[in-house]
Amino acid sequence: MRHRSRAMLHRVASSIAASRALKAETKTSTTVAKMWTTCREATLTTVSQPAEASLRPSLRAEETDERAFRIDDDARKLAAMRASTSTSPRDALVDGFGRRHNYLRISLTERCNLRCGYCMPEEGVDLTPNGDLLTAEEIERLVRVFASAGVDKVRLTGGEPTVRKDLEEVVKRAASVPGIRDVSVTTNGVTLEKRLEKLKANGLTRLNISLDTLVPAKFEFMTRRKGQERVMASINKAVELGFDSVKVNVVVMRGQNDDEIVDFVELTKDKPINVRFIEYMPFDGNKWSMKKMISYAEMKTRVEERFGALQRLADPKEEVAKNFSIPGHAGTVSFITSMTNSFCSGCNRLRIMADGNLKVCLFGNSEVSLRDSMRSGDDDDRLLSVISAAVKRKKAAHAGMHELAASDNRAMIKIGG
Ligand code: SAM
Ligand code: SF4
Repeated sequence: MRHRSRAMLHRVASSIAASRALKAETKTSTTVAKMWTTCREATLTTVSQPAEASLRPSLRAEETDERAFRIDDDARKLAAMRASTSTSPRDALVDGFGRRHNYLRISLTERCNLRCGYCMPEEGVDLTPNGDLLTAEEIERLVRVFASAGVDKVRLTGGEPTVRKDLEEVVKRAASVPGIRDVSVTTNGVTLEKRLEKLKANGLTRLNISLDTLVPAKFEFMTRRKGQERVMASINKAVELGFDSVKVNVVVMRGQNDDEIVDFVELTKDKPINVRFIEYMPFDGNKWSMKKMISYAEMKTRVEERFGALQRLADPKEEVAKNFSIPGHAGTVSFITSMTNSFCSGCNRLRIMADGNLKVCLFGNSEVSLRDSMRSGDDDDRLLSVISAAVKRKKAAHAGMHELAASDNRAMIKIGG
């Protein structure tokens, strides 16, 4: 098996080189599809029958995905194939590249009380019927299953998680699961302030509040709703209540809010918050363009022109942000460089969307329904094997920014950031 697989991978690598040289798009797709079928067959012989069935829909979506073959390291690919047999809890969330996933992001809803242009397509999105969304009980069960395999951090996101009336209950249930040491929420903060005390009492440890402008009128333009002052009030209240961390997410877009970068940094002078500048990412319907995206390098230069050299903080291996302190400031500044400097090699994240689909990569279009698995009566072991099979197929890295811009993915509002 080992020799056969190695030989097969060599064939795959040389076929890719040959197909690239041909530069005939349709021919390439057919060749790649054939190669993927061979590779898939090799992989599927190592997984159990039911797990195989659950993989099929998402594998189809990948059949013509040439990126699947970007891996130039045969040995690692073989390891991935062999690893696909393992569903022991200890290894269930380790992928073929040795990445251990301990961080689960759960989208609670596809709905939102704002309409940010970079997230929500102008024409809106088709909403999953309420009955097809995960319930608080199902979320707790999933957190238990993931925690049994090493997940210790949970982030609740959306859509806008505060749109769900049972957010407090979901927090409480997640925080009560043995092994979970950190439950956080990413929110636009518009209706958060009054709920913060209860959320904290129920076990919420950290908060990310998104705010792209300090100018109320611009907020209305960017989000197509009012509410900037209420978001600021939520940030201040969160600081006052002493959460473990309060982060402010700022998606920077040229011509919209890039003139406010230094104003946001100014906020960190007195407030112990972490302002995180995020590179604008492409998703379905968000009209992303290279011109509108401001790179980490450019943002950092602009901050340093005003505040002097930033001091890099020691980041943990799986940290997605590049974190900096500024002498004399109570807070810190970070950059999320998904577009210009991806952080795939240390990725420890898995995502469950509001409809219960598991996505192993934010930019991957392969998904598997955990809701259907649960609702069809699967027990926890079976559920974990479905999850594990998806994790084992996680790719080494996502595509570059131009390929991402051209590829299909859900709208951000339906993924959960
Ligand atoms: N509604 C909540 C909020 O806005 O914080 C949670 C969901 S939102 C999808 C999560 C995060 O993704 C937010 O910080 C948002 O700014 C960010 N985001 C959405 N679309 C983005 C894009 N195209 N590029 C970069 N970040 C994006
Ligand atoms: Fe809503 Fe958050 Fe998306 Fe804005 S970024 S539309 S607040 S889900």
